[in-house]
Amino acid sequence: MTSSYSTDIVIFGGGIAGLWLLNRLRNQGYQAILLETDKLGSGQTLASQGIIHGGLKYALNGALSSGANIISDMPALWRSALAGKADIDLRECRVLSEHYYMWSDAGIRSKLKTFLGSKSLSGRVSAVEKQDYPDFFRAATVEGTLYKLPDFVVDTNSLLEVLARKQRDRIFKVNPRSYKFERNESGLVNAISFSGEEEPFSIEAQKFIFSAGKGNQQLIDDAGLVEPKCQLRPLNMVYVKGKNLPSVFVHCIGDSFSLTPKLTITSHSDAQGETVWYLGGEIAESGVDKDKDAQTHSARMLLTTLFPWINFEATQFHCFTIDRAEANVNNNYRPEDAHFIEESNVLVAWPTKLTLTPNLADNISEHFAASGVVPSTAASEQNLGDVLEAAEFATSRWD
Ligand SMILES: Cc1cc2nc3c(=O)[nH]c(=O)nc-3n(C[C@H](O)[C@H](O)[C@H](O)COP(=O)(O)OP(=O)(O)OC[C@H]3O[C@@H](n4cnc5c(N)ncnc54)[C@H](O)[C@@H]3O)c2cc1C
Repeated sequence: MTSSYSTDIVIFGGGIAGLWLLNRLRNQGYQAILLETDKLGSGQTLASQGIIHGGLKYALNGALSSGANIISDMPALWRSALAGKADIDLRECRVLSEHYYMWSDAGIRSKLKTFLGSKSLSGRVSAVEKQDYPDFFRAATVEGTLYKLPDFVVDTNSLLEVLARKQRDRIFKVNPRSYKFERNESGLVNAISFSGEEEPFSIEAQKFIFSAGKGNQQLIDDAGLVEPKCQLRPLNMVYVKGKNLPSVFVHCIGDSFSLTPKLTITSHSDAQGETVWYLGGEIAESGVDKDKDAQTHSARMLLTTLFPWINFEATQFHCFTIDRAEANVNNNYRPEDAHFIEESNVLVAWPTKLTLTPNLADNISEHFAASGVVPSTAASEQNLGDVLEAAEFATSRWD
């Protein structure tokens, strides 16, 4: 006999998007569960640099687009969650740096000054006086200008832990080959049914949300959806380990304005407590076709050129490739906003950036309210822990 469980919403994917949505929807009274095929955070979320962007990076091509305007509200939203003043309480999430900086070499200083003084950006960015430089830039042996941005950096391990902690009995690991989507006579997906060695069972729900990053495409295909499309953007990220590396959080701007800084550095700790520099930006985008030796060599050369006052000889360089997964809503162009696309009773969601996750959650909960999706009045939730195992946390690449 097939046992049947029911809930209001089934979320697929235990990255930032799925975990944030699970918290948001349960806070609003919905019954919801989350299914993960690997480990929590194992997709893009733990691989991200954790920068909560204020949008300046996306304005570097000259004008603030609508996407840049939405993102400019995000640091304040995150700060209120970090202070425990929002519906999602992130007080126990670690902030790695309260500030994020931008460093430009002398070459484009005047052009940059004019741009940063422009009306669209006034008040958002300030040049740092030399006496206020963080220690790392105080030791600089080359001319440059340092700017302070409204951005800051969160520790993604603690972020995931905080989001998962309250929902442990709602988060499960599943084998992607163990279930299939069931549709009713009206074509709506009404359940997922599990079969295999154990007793078969099914989970019914009003709505299904796919927030599985790169895994969304497989889910779209498995559920037989037509409209939502996923696009991938590969990156070759580098991390650097060495004794006594200082903590650095900075975009290094090249000699031209571009959407992507030449180098984006964040600093993290490995399991031994040593500082790890994590390198993204243009080097990760342009390095996708390079093998490990070529990519780590490029990174070493770039760091040596940008920071000649640091000796990188004994530093170890590592790299790995990872895809950014986004909605394909604009003919393969990079989306700027968070997106969800609904087909039948399935929502396929991509936050586009970690930063935009609160905006994605707002959009989905507003959509549910507007389309009459209300929490069920069933007295209590059934315990799926009898048939599914708990999902574990992934670890950072450098551990
Ligand atoms: C290298 C890198 C650096 C980045 N840096 C930043 C940054 O500094 N700031 C910023 O704002 N954004 C950044 N981003 C973007 C940000 O990380 C992503 O937008 C965000 O993490 C996406 O979250 P997600 O939950 O949608 O997907 P993911 O984090 O990819 O999570 C998807 C989850 O779904 C699971 N899954 C896959 N298939 C299935 C399935 N069939 N069923 C159930 N679960 C499934 C996966 O195992 C995974 O755990 C970065 C991205 C990358 C790749």
